[in-house]
Amino acid sequence: MWLKLLLLAIAVWIAYRYVQKLRRKLPDWLRASRQQERCPSCGQWMQPANAPLQCPKCGEKLGRSPDGRLIIRVN
Ligand SMILES: [Zn+2]
Repeated sequence: MWLKLLLLAIAVWIAYRYVQKLRRKLPDWLRASRQQERCPSCGQWMQPANAPLQCPKCGEKLGRSPDGRLIIRVN
């Protein structure tokens, strides 16, 4: 009887670890599936991925931070 409980506990632990791993990957999926982004300068919604990035409303030149967010390009 206790052996079954032990196996169950191990199965639950493995499932728990798996869920934790999936949760860590979730933000990447959300970022990849997002269709539109906001201009950090004026808040205008815009289609990303056209390079060089420039806001269609205020004309601000935009870049990407290392974690993938839109930022105002300074140069
Ligand atoms: Zn803008």
